[in-house]
Amino acid sequence: MTVKKLGIIGGSFDPIHIGHLNSAEFVYKALGLDKVLFVPAYIAPHKIGMEFAAAEDRYRMTELAVEGCPYFEVSDVELKRSGVSYTYDTVLELKKQYPGYELYFIVGADSVPQLSTWHNIYGLLHEVTFVAVARPGYDKAFAKAREDFGGLGEEKILLLKMPELAVSSTDIRERVKNGAPVDGMVPEAVRDYILEKGLYR
Ligand code: ATP
Repeated sequence: MTVKKLGIIGGSFDPIHIGHLNSAEFVYKALGLDKVLFVPAYIAPHKIGMEFAAAEDRYRMTELAVEGCPYFEVSDVELKRSGVSYTYDTVLELKKQYPGYELYFIVGADSVPQLSTWHNIYGLLHEVTFVAVARPGYDKAFAKAREDFGGLGEEKILLLKMPELAVSSTDIRERVKNGAPVDGMVPEAVRDYILEKGLYR
């Protein structure tokens, strides 16, 4: 029996952008995943106290971004749980929802240096394989952070080199605030949603 592979990409998605979508697509193809789940955080642990668009808006934009793609789905597991969205808790829930799947957690390489601060990171490394996709300027920090986990890091944190897209949600929020266009940085439906709802003004 072939084991099924589930990709998971978590984030604030405030808003979701082509960097997220590209990474998911790239890992989907490179690792032969069966599906990628986008999991908008209710409250991302490393962003406690910061201001966000409402969880419902971030969730809806994520839905709009994956619409029409048969192997991308959005999960409401963190929104339903509410509180601080620890990935370890999410992964335990997803394991129940997807029995028999191998789990691959997709992150930008910029997230790897912070992994040691993640709640129950060693438990998490036993449950999932991290797949880090290169993001501009983070290669060295990635290698160092991975080494810090020793053999477990080598086994469970992969780096995939992919054409880098220098786009971030922070850039997009800033541009919208300044009235600059965000075409090409987010899917059209997401751009329209941002404008209709007046987000990030
Ligand atoms: P912000 O600018 O608000 O901090 P962000 O653009 O980094 O947001 P998040 O929702 O925090 O987006 O990121 C979710 C995940 O996607 C993280 O693992 C992050 O490293 C990754 N990611 C974000 N942007 C890119 C990109 N351009 N290329 C590759 N990975 C990305």
